[in-house]
Amino acid sequence: MQDLSRRGVLRATAAAGAGAVVVPGAAAAGAPVANAASRGKGGAKCPPAQLTGRIVRPQDPNYASSSLGWDELFVHYPLVIVYVQDTQDVVNALTWARQNDVALRVRSGGHSLEGWSNVDNGLVIDISELKSARIDTASLTATVGAGLNQLEAVTTLAKQDVAVTTGTEGTVGLSGATLGGGFGFLTRYLGMACDSLIGAEIVVTSGADCASVLHVDARNHGDLLWALRGAGNGNFGIVTSLTYKVSPLKSVVYVTATWDGLSDLTQIFDTWQRTAPNTDNRLGTQLEIHPDKIFLFAVLAEGTQGEAQRLLAPLLSIDTPDVTVQEGNWGDIYTGFQIPTAADPANWKFFSQFTKKPFPRKAIGIVSSFMQDAPTTDSNFFTQAFGGAVRNSAPRGGTAFPHRDALFYSEPGAGWGTRGVPGSGDAITPIAQAWIAEFSQALRPYVNGAYVNVPNIGMQEWETAYWGRNVDRLRQVKAKYDPYNVFQYEQSIPPAS
Ligand SMILES: Cc1cc2nc3c(=O)[nH]c(=O)nc-3n(C[C@H](O)[C@H](O)[C@H](O)COP(=O)(O)OP(=O)(O)OC[C@H]3O[C@@H](n4cnc5c(N)ncnc54)[C@H](O)[C@@H]3O)c2cc1C
Repeated sequence: MQDLSRRGVLRATAAAGAGAVVVPGAAAAGAPVANAASRGKGGAKCPPAQLTGRIVRPQDPNYASSSLGWDELFVHYPLVIVYVQDTQDVVNALTWARQNDVALRVRSGGHSLEGWSNVDNGLVIDISELKSARIDTASLTATVGAGLNQLEAVTTLAKQDVAVTTGTEGTVGLSGATLGGGFGFLTRYLGMACDSLIGAEIVVTSGADCASVLHVDARNHGDLLWALRGAGNGNFGIVTSLTYKVSPLKSVVYVTATWDGLSDLTQIFDTWQRTAPNTDNRLGTQLEIHPDKIFLFAVLAEGTQGEAQRLLAPLLSIDTPDVTVQEGNWGDIYTGFQIPTAADPANWKFFSQFTKKPFPRKAIGIVSSFMQDAPTTDSNFFTQAFGGAVRNSAPRGGTAFPHRDALFYSEPGAGWGTRGVPGSGDAITPIAQAWIAEFSQALRPYVNGAYVNVPNIGMQEWETAYWGRNVDRLRQVKAKYDPYNVFQYEQSIPPAS
């Protein structure tokens, strides 16, 4: 287990097939549609609402498993969890929470890295059963239920030879990833996931205690679409479906390289950071430094194995790494590098950072010394190359995601404890957290900004770190669509006053 990557990209052999089960989603028929008059403060009251959908309460046998998110470091005891089955269930849940003054959280894939999709004594509106997909290969658009996870989305689209950018972990919710930005192997080719988002259905607050449905696109509520592209996680409403502009993608080449030990780290890191953000846009790479190994993972879209090896030659020629190369359908390759959640440690902690200028040797030395002093074998320093399409892929109308000029993204991360065994990691928790804090602090002179999808708890200027100059506009959009600040958590966007 020690050598497994957090994002599960180590498996060299792609298992073919394993496609997603996608069922037609329930339509929004019957759900009230918001108009301008019903938003904003004041307004009409609604008749008392009832919770509908698949409801899980504390006395139910599946309550414990339904409460648990991916990161078991965060344990919550919600009052009730509603697995919504259609948009009307979402309207009912939001109205019920408002009428009964109950705190609420929205959950999709349950991978929030601070446990913010759950809340003690509150209502969890879980949209993970909203699974549907309608793909139009003629117009290259796809409308999907917001409950798809990334594996379901990638494999469903890949069957039609189309794709959008996603992250690498299949069980992460497509909504959670896209609404915060969403990067992965296809980022340098297609931009961020949120760059392809051209529409959404979203349930927002309306009136004094009601909820209603908005259909958002470039022409309707364009300000909200802009905000959903990078700042939409649990801030403005509950997204029930997502419409993407998809891109043709027939095949990819997947390359992995593994170096034993960290003795080549300076040369590998420096070569990677000077080549990966500037290479052919079709090539996306991640470099992962573990306590005793260095891993390179690369995906070349629509290329040949020879091209991939040529583009990666500056790295592959350093020392003698173990190299694997595969070619195939993106859905099959993506499926093949997944690792079951059960094989992951229970608890995880990360700290996100973007970088605009290459790390000097001193910064690479910091990475090396912290990795040699890692608290667990499941610790790593993860990087993702930016550059390429992401520099200019912002769609018409723009995005709240700001980090277009990053060279790369990085995060120190540690995993510990055994899944399903509460308290199994307690002794390591303070050590791992201190290691992350000191590691990220040491890199501060070399980084610019942070990633909202990997939130940095305790960071002073978190809003600016996530969204740069977009913060004021986001607060305005918040005041317009959630004036009572119903969608609220530790780092939610406050409404402009
Ligand atoms: C193992 C792992 C690997 C990762 N790899 C990557 C990666 O390669 N690239 C990358 O970009 N990110 C990556 N991430 C970060 C990931 O994008 C975020 O954790 C993401 O927000 C998780 O989404 P979720 O739906 O699974 O989580 P959830 O916990 O369900 O939701 C996360 C947040 O989004 C909100 N939210 C979810 N669905 C909706 C909705 N429909 N409407 C409104 N708000 C909603 C929740 O309220 C919460 O605030 C990774 C995370 C993990 C744990």
